[in-house]
Amino acid sequence: MQENIELYRTKIDKIDRAVIELLAERKRLSEDIIRAKHEMNMPTEDLERENEIITRLQQHAKDTLAPEFVMEIYRNIFRSAKAAFEEKKVCENEIFKEIKAKKILIAGPCAVESSEQIHTIAKELSECGVKYLRGGTFKPRTSPDSFQGLGMPGIVFLDRAAKAYGMYSVSEITGVYQLEQGFSKVDILQIGSRNAMNFELLKAVGRYTAAEQKPIILKRGFWMTIREFLAAAEYIRSAGNGSVILCLRGIRTFEQIDSEFRFTPDLASIQEIKKLSDLPVIFDPSHSAGKAEFVLPLAKAAIDLGADGIIAEAHNKPDCALSDAKQCVLPSEIGKLAQYIENVNRANQAK
Ligand code: PEP
Ligand code: MN
Repeated sequence: MQENIELYRTKIDKIDRAVIELLAERKRLSEDIIRAKHEMNMPTEDLERENEIITRLQQHAKDTLAPEFVMEIYRNIFRSAKAAFEEKKVCENEIFKEIKAKKILIAGPCAVESSEQIHTIAKELSECGVKYLRGGTFKPRTSPDSFQGLGMPGIVFLDRAAKAYGMYSVSEITGVYQLEQGFSKVDILQIGSRNAMNFELLKAVGRYTAAEQKPIILKRGFWMTIREFLAAAEYIRSAGNGSVILCLRGIRTFEQIDSEFRFTPDLASIQEIKKLSDLPVIFDPSHSAGKAEFVLPLAKAAIDLGADGIIAEAHNKPDCALSDAKQCVLPSEIGKLAQYIENVNRANQAK
Protein backbone atom coordinates (compact mmCIF):
# COMPACT_ATOMS: atom_id res chain seq x y z
CA MET A 1 0.00 0.00 0.00
CA GLN A 2 2.76 2.43 1.08
CA GLU A 3 4.61 1.59 -2.13
CA ASN A 4 1.56 2.50 -4.22
CA ILE A 5 1.29 5.88 -2.51
CA GLU A 6 4.95 6.57 -3.25
CA LEU A 7 4.38 5.62 -6.88
CA TYR A 8 1.40 7.96 -7.20
CA ARG A 9 3.38 10.75 -5.56
CA THR A 10 6.22 10.33 -8.01
CA LYS A 11 3.75 10.57 -10.88
CA ILE A 12 2.09 13.65 -9.35
CA ASP A 13 5.45 15.38 -8.86
CA LYS A 14 6.22 14.76 -12.53
CA ILE A 15 2.85 16.15 -13.59
CA ASP A 16 3.33 19.22 -11.37
CA ARG A 17 6.65 20.00 -13.00
CA ALA A 18 5.13 19.61 -16.45
CA VAL A 19 2.20 21.88 -15.45
CA ILE A 20 4.59 24.60 -14.25
CA GLU A 21 6.71 24.34 -17.40
CA LEU A 22 3.62 24.58 -19.60
CA LEU A 23 2.30 27.55 -17.62
CA ALA A 24 5.63 29.35 -17.98
CA GLU A 25 5.64 28.67 -21.72
CA ARG A 26 2.04 29.89 -21.95
CA LYS A 27 2.95 33.08 -20.08
CA ARG A 28 5.88 33.79 -22.41
CA LEU A 29 3.60 33.44 -25.42
CA SER A 30 0.94 35.75 -23.95
CA GLU A 31 3.60 38.33 -23.16
CA ASP A 32 4.78 38.20 -26.78
CA ILE A 33 1.22 38.85 -27.90
CA ILE A 34 0.80 41.76 -25.44
CA ARG A 35 4.09 43.28 -26.60
CA ALA A 36 3.04 43.01 -30.26
CA LYS A 37 -0.30 44.63 -29.45
CA HIS A 38 1.47 47.50 -27.69
CA GLU A 39 3.63 48.11 -30.73
CA MET A 40 0.54 48.27 -32.92
CA ASN A 41 -1.23 50.52 -30.38
CA MET A 42 -3.92 47.89 -29.91
CA PRO A 43 -5.79 47.27 -26.65
CA THR A 44 -3.96 44.58 -24.69
CA GLU A 45 -7.02 43.11 -23.08
CA ASP A 46 -9.36 40.90 -25.10
CA LEU A 47 -12.11 39.84 -22.72
CA GLU A 48 -14.07 38.16 -25.48
CA ARG A 49 -11.17 35.81 -26.24
CA GLU A 50 -10.56 35.18 -22.52
CA ASN A 51 -14.21 34.16 -22.05
CA GLU A 52 -14.11 32.04 -25.16
CA ILE A 53 -11.03 30.14 -23.87
CA ILE A 54 -12.65 29.54 -20.49
CA THR A 55 -15.91 28.26 -22.01
CA ARG A 56 -14.02 25.95 -24.36
CA LEU A 57 -11.92 24.49 -21.52
CA GLN A 58 -14.90 24.13 -19.19
CA GLN A 59 -16.55 22.09 -21.93
CA HIS A 60 -13.38 20.04 -22.41
CA ALA A 61 -13.11 19.30 -18.68
CA LYS A 62 -16.79 18.85 -18.03
CA ASP A 63 -16.60 15.27 -16.70
CA THR A 64 -13.60 15.83 -14.46
CA LEU A 65 -13.28 19.43 -13.25
CA ALA A 66 -15.91 21.87 -11.94
CA PRO A 67 -16.52 24.87 -14.29
CA GLU A 68 -15.86 27.36 -11.43
CA PHE A 69 -12.48 25.72 -10.83
CA VAL A 70 -11.48 26.02 -14.49
CA MET A 71 -12.65 29.64 -14.52
CA GLU A 72 -10.69 30.56 -11.39
CA ILE A 73 -7.49 28.98 -12.68
CA TYR A 74 -7.72 30.74 -16.03
CA ARG A 75 -8.66 34.16 -14.63
CA ASN A 76 -5.45 33.93 -12.56
CA ILE A 77 -3.41 32.82 -15.54
CA PHE A 78 -4.65 35.77 -17.66
CA ARG A 79 -4.05 38.23 -14.79
CA SER A 80 -0.50 37.01 -14.21
CA ALA A 81 0.55 37.53 -17.86
CA LYS A 82 -0.85 41.07 -17.93
CA ALA A 83 0.51 42.04 -14.50
CA ALA A 84 4.05 40.87 -15.20
CA PHE A 85 4.11 42.89 -18.40
CA GLU A 86 2.75 46.04 -16.75
CA GLU A 87 5.30 45.90 -13.94
CA LYS A 88 8.11 45.72 -16.46
CA LYS A 89 6.72 48.61 -18.49
CA VAL A 90 6.03 50.83 -15.45
CA CYS A 91 9.71 50.79 -14.63
CA GLU A 92 10.75 51.83 -18.09
CA ASN A 93 9.67 55.49 -18.28
CA GLU A 94 12.48 57.63 -16.93
CA ILE A 95 10.31 60.59 -15.89
CA PHE A 96 7.86 58.32 -14.10
CA LYS A 97 10.78 56.67 -12.29
CA GLU A 98 11.88 60.12 -11.10
CA ILE A 99 8.35 60.95 -9.95
CA LYS A 100 8.19 57.71 -7.98
CA ALA A 101 11.56 58.35 -6.37
CA LYS A 102 10.96 61.78 -4.82
CA LYS A 103 8.35 64.47 -4.27
CA ILE A 104 7.88 66.70 -7.29
CA LEU A 105 6.71 70.23 -7.92
CA ILE A 106 4.87 71.12 -11.12
CA ALA A 107 4.11 74.81 -11.63
CA GLY A 108 3.13 77.24 -14.34
CA PRO A 109 0.23 79.25 -15.61
CA CYS A 110 -3.30 77.95 -15.87
CA ALA A 111 -3.06 78.69 -19.60
CA VAL A 112 -0.25 79.42 -22.02
CA GLU A 113 -1.13 82.93 -23.21
CA SER A 114 1.81 83.83 -25.44
CA SER A 115 5.36 82.77 -26.17
CA GLU A 116 6.72 85.67 -24.04
CA GLN A 117 4.46 84.87 -21.08
CA ILE A 118 5.41 81.20 -20.88
CA HIS A 119 9.13 81.97 -21.38
CA THR A 120 9.13 84.55 -18.58
CA ILE A 121 7.32 82.21 -16.19
CA ALA A 122 9.49 79.21 -17.13
CA LYS A 123 12.65 81.24 -16.54
CA GLU A 124 11.53 82.49 -13.12
CA LEU A 125 10.33 79.05 -12.03
CA SER A 126 13.44 77.26 -13.18
CA GLU A 127 15.55 79.76 -11.23
CA CYS A 128 13.57 78.67 -8.16
CA GLY A 129 14.45 75.02 -8.83
CA VAL A 130 11.16 73.94 -10.46
CA LYS A 131 11.68 71.17 -13.03
CA TYR A 132 8.14 70.62 -14.30
CA LEU A 133 6.36 73.35 -16.28
CA ARG A 134 2.59 73.26 -16.63
CA GLY A 135 0.50 75.27 -19.09
CA GLY A 136 -2.92 74.50 -20.55
CA THR A 137 -3.66 75.16 -24.20
CA PHE A 138 -7.02 73.41 -24.54
CA LYS A 139 -8.89 74.89 -21.60
CA PRO A 140 -12.13 73.29 -20.42
CA ARG A 141 -14.00 76.48 -19.44
CA THR A 142 -17.49 76.67 -17.98
CA SER A 143 -18.52 79.37 -20.45
CA PRO A 144 -17.80 79.25 -24.19
CA ASP A 145 -17.23 83.01 -24.00
CA SER A 146 -14.20 82.62 -21.70
CA PHE A 147 -10.63 82.32 -23.04
CA GLN A 148 -10.38 78.80 -24.47
CA GLY A 149 -6.59 78.55 -24.70
CA LEU A 150 -4.28 78.89 -27.70
CA GLY A 151 -4.75 75.33 -28.91
CA MET A 152 -1.90 73.70 -30.80
CA PRO A 153 0.33 76.82 -31.17
CA GLY A 154 0.33 76.99 -27.37
CA ILE A 155 1.93 73.53 -27.25
CA VAL A 156 4.79 74.77 -29.42
CA PHE A 157 5.34 77.74 -27.05
CA LEU A 158 5.20 75.47 -23.99
CA ASP A 159 7.58 72.95 -25.51
CA ARG A 160 10.12 75.64 -26.48
CA ALA A 161 9.98 77.31 -23.08
CA ALA A 162 10.37 73.99 -21.24
CA LYS A 163 13.32 72.97 -23.40
CA ALA A 164 14.96 76.41 -23.07
CA TYR A 165 15.17 75.98 -19.28
CA GLY A 166 15.69 72.20 -19.11
CA MET A 167 12.21 71.52 -17.75
CA TYR A 168 9.58 68.85 -18.47
CA SER A 169 6.31 70.06 -19.97
CA VAL A 170 2.84 69.22 -18.62
CA SER A 171 -0.39 69.99 -20.46
CA GLU A 172 -4.01 68.91 -20.53
CA ILE A 173 -5.23 66.74 -23.37
CA THR A 174 -8.93 66.87 -24.21
CA GLY A 175 -9.05 64.72 -27.35
CA VAL A 176 -6.83 61.88 -28.54
CA TYR A 177 -6.46 63.51 -32.00
CA GLN A 178 -4.23 66.08 -30.22
CA LEU A 179 -1.56 63.39 -29.82
CA GLU A 180 -1.24 63.22 -33.58
CA GLN A 181 -1.01 67.00 -33.90
CA GLY A 182 1.74 67.99 -31.48
CA PHE A 183 0.95 66.62 -28.04
CA SER A 184 3.54 63.90 -28.56
CA LYS A 185 6.00 66.69 -27.64
CA VAL A 186 4.42 67.08 -24.20
CA ASP A 187 6.35 65.12 -21.53
CA ILE A 188 3.44 64.57 -19.15
CA LEU A 189 -0.19 64.57 -20.23
CA GLN A 190 -2.96 65.72 -17.95
CA ILE A 191 -6.54 64.49 -18.06
CA GLY A 192 -8.64 67.14 -16.37
CA SER A 193 -11.28 66.85 -13.70
CA ARG A 194 -14.11 67.27 -16.18
CA ASN A 195 -12.85 64.43 -18.36
CA ALA A 196 -12.00 62.05 -15.51
CA MET A 197 -14.92 59.80 -16.43
CA ASN A 198 -14.62 60.19 -20.19
CA PHE A 199 -13.85 56.51 -20.54
CA GLU A 200 -13.26 56.58 -24.28
CA LEU A 201 -10.64 59.32 -23.79
CA LEU A 202 -9.01 57.41 -20.91
CA LYS A 203 -8.79 54.23 -22.99
CA ALA A 204 -7.59 56.01 -26.13
CA VAL A 205 -4.89 57.98 -24.28
CA GLY A 206 -3.77 54.81 -22.44
CA ARG A 207 -3.54 52.89 -25.70
CA TYR A 208 -1.83 55.66 -27.60
CA THR A 209 0.85 56.25 -24.97
CA ALA A 210 1.42 52.59 -24.04
CA ALA A 211 4.59 52.05 -26.04
CA GLU A 212 6.32 55.03 -24.39
CA GLN A 213 4.59 54.70 -21.02
CA LYS A 214 4.30 58.50 -21.04
CA PRO A 215 3.22 59.71 -17.58
CA ILE A 216 -0.45 60.70 -17.37
CA ILE A 217 -1.77 62.91 -14.57
CA LEU A 218 -5.38 61.94 -13.94
CA LYS A 219 -7.26 64.60 -12.00
CA ARG A 220 -10.10 63.51 -9.75
CA GLY A 221 -13.53 64.47 -11.07
CA PHE A 222 -14.89 66.94 -8.51
CA TRP A 223 -17.95 64.70 -8.06
CA MET A 224 -16.14 61.36 -7.95
CA THR A 225 -15.83 58.90 -5.07
CA ILE A 226 -12.39 57.47 -4.36
CA ARG A 227 -13.37 54.08 -5.82
CA GLU A 228 -14.61 55.72 -9.02
CA PHE A 229 -11.38 57.70 -9.24
CA LEU A 230 -9.23 54.59 -8.88
CA ALA A 231 -11.39 52.72 -11.39
CA ALA A 232 -10.89 55.57 -13.88
CA ALA A 233 -7.11 55.20 -13.45
CA GLU A 234 -7.51 51.50 -14.20
CA TYR A 235 -8.95 52.40 -17.61
CA ILE A 236 -5.60 53.98 -18.53
CA ARG A 237 -3.59 51.14 -17.00
CA SER A 238 -5.56 48.35 -18.60
CA ALA A 239 -5.31 50.11 -21.96
CA GLY A 240 -1.53 49.59 -21.62
CA ASN A 241 -0.03 52.60 -19.82
CA GLY A 242 0.85 52.00 -16.17
CA SER A 243 2.47 55.42 -15.61
CA VAL A 244 -0.54 57.08 -14.03
CA ILE A 245 -0.24 59.88 -11.47
CA LEU A 246 -3.37 60.48 -9.40
CA CYS A 247 -4.13 64.13 -8.72
CA LEU A 248 -6.50 65.34 -6.01
CA ARG A 249 -7.80 68.82 -6.80
CA GLY A 250 -10.76 69.43 -4.50
CA ILE A 251 -14.31 68.13 -4.61
CA ARG A 252 -17.71 69.82 -4.54
CA THR A 253 -19.48 69.68 -1.18
CA PHE A 254 -21.85 71.85 0.90
CA GLU A 255 -18.86 74.09 1.65
CA GLN A 256 -19.36 75.78 -1.68
CA ILE A 257 -22.68 77.28 -0.56
CA ASP A 258 -20.97 79.89 1.57
CA SER A 259 -17.26 79.18 2.07
CA GLU A 260 -14.46 80.96 0.23
CA PHE A 261 -13.10 77.72 -1.23
CA ARG A 262 -13.73 77.05 -4.91
CA PHE A 263 -13.75 73.33 -4.09
CA THR A 264 -13.29 71.50 -0.80
CA PRO A 265 -9.64 70.41 -0.50
CA ASP A 266 -9.71 66.59 -0.36
CA LEU A 267 -6.52 66.40 1.68
CA ALA A 268 -7.50 63.42 3.83
CA SER A 269 -7.95 61.36 0.68
CA ILE A 270 -4.18 61.47 0.11
CA GLN A 271 -3.69 59.02 2.95
CA GLU A 272 -6.60 56.82 1.95
CA ILE A 273 -5.48 56.55 -1.68
CA LYS A 274 -1.91 55.80 -0.66
CA LYS A 275 -3.27 52.79 1.20
CA LEU A 276 -5.41 51.61 -1.70
CA SER A 277 -3.06 52.21 -4.63
CA ASP A 278 0.63 52.03 -5.48
CA LEU A 279 0.38 54.97 -7.89
CA PRO A 280 1.91 58.37 -7.01
CA VAL A 281 -0.63 60.84 -5.58
CA ILE A 282 -0.16 64.57 -6.11
CA PHE A 283 -2.26 67.49 -4.91
CA ASP A 284 -3.46 70.63 -6.68
CA PRO A 285 -3.91 73.41 -4.09
CA SER A 286 -4.75 76.04 -6.72
CA HIS A 287 -8.02 74.63 -8.05
CA SER A 288 -9.19 73.40 -4.67
CA ALA A 289 -8.46 76.72 -2.95
CA GLY A 290 -9.50 78.99 -5.78
CA LYS A 291 -7.67 81.76 -3.92
CA ALA A 292 -3.97 82.64 -4.01
CA GLU A 293 -3.58 83.12 -0.24
CA PHE A 294 -4.58 79.51 0.50
CA VAL A 295 -2.30 77.90 -2.07
CA LEU A 296 0.91 77.61 -0.05
CA PRO A 297 -0.58 76.43 3.25
CA LEU A 298 -2.63 73.77 1.45
CA ALA A 299 0.36 72.60 -0.59
CA LYS A 300 2.50 72.24 2.54
CA ALA A 301 -0.29 70.37 4.33
CA ALA A 302 -0.57 67.98 1.38
CA ILE A 303 3.17 67.28 1.47
CA ASP A 304 2.98 66.72 5.23
CA LEU A 305 0.14 64.25 4.67
CA GLY A 306 2.32 62.18 2.33
CA ALA A 307 1.51 63.58 -1.13
CA ASP A 308 4.10 62.66 -3.74
CA GLY A 309 4.04 66.13 -5.24
CA ILE A 310 2.20 69.34 -5.97
CA ILE A 311 0.84 70.90 -9.13
CA ALA A 312 0.20 74.62 -8.69
CA GLU A 313 -0.64 77.62 -10.84
CA ALA A 314 1.80 80.51 -11.10
CA HIS A 315 1.81 83.67 -13.21
CA ASN A 316 4.26 86.55 -13.55
CA LYS A 317 1.30 89.00 -13.54
CA PRO A 318 -1.42 87.20 -11.57
CA ASP A 319 -3.97 90.02 -11.89
CA CYS A 320 -3.74 89.93 -15.67
CA ALA A 321 -4.01 86.13 -16.08
CA LEU A 322 -6.55 85.22 -18.75
CA SER A 323 -7.86 82.30 -16.69
CA ASP A 324 -7.98 81.44 -12.97
CA ALA A 325 -6.42 84.82 -12.03
CA LYS A 326 -7.65 84.67 -8.42
CA GLN A 327 -5.74 81.49 -7.63
CA CYS A 328 -2.44 82.33 -9.36
CA VAL A 329 0.61 83.02 -7.22
CA LEU A 330 3.90 84.64 -8.22
CA PRO A 331 6.83 82.39 -9.16
CA SER A 332 8.64 83.70 -6.05
CA GLU A 333 5.88 82.13 -3.87
CA ILE A 334 6.37 78.85 -5.73
CA GLY A 335 10.08 79.22 -4.89
CA LYS A 336 9.21 78.99 -1.18
CA LEU A 337 7.28 75.81 -1.86
CA ALA A 338 10.16 74.40 -3.90
CA GLN A 339 12.42 74.96 -0.90
CA TYR A 340 9.93 73.27 1.44
CA ILE A 341 9.65 70.21 -0.81
CA GLU A 342 13.41 70.06 -1.32
CA ASN A 343 13.91 69.98 2.46
CA VAL A 344 11.41 67.12 2.82
CA ASN A 345 13.14 65.20 0.02
CA ARG A 346 16.52 65.70 1.70
CA ALA A 347 15.16 64.56 5.05
CA ASN A 348 13.62 61.48 3.44
CA GLN A 349 16.87 60.61 1.68
CA ALA A 350 18.77 60.88 4.92
CA LYS A 351 16.44 58.36 6.61
C1 PEP B 1 -6.10 72.72 -14.84
O1 PEP B 1 -5.26 72.12 -14.14
O2 PEP B 1 -5.79 73.58 -15.66
C2 PEP B 1 -7.53 72.42 -14.66
C3 PEP B 1 -8.43 72.87 -15.51
O3 PEP B 1 -7.77 71.71 -13.55
P1 PEP B 1 -9.03 70.79 -13.21
O4 PEP B 1 -9.22 69.85 -14.38
O5 PEP B 1 -8.62 70.12 -11.95
O6 PEP B 1 -10.20 71.72 -13.02
MN1 MN C 1 -6.66 76.59 -13.94
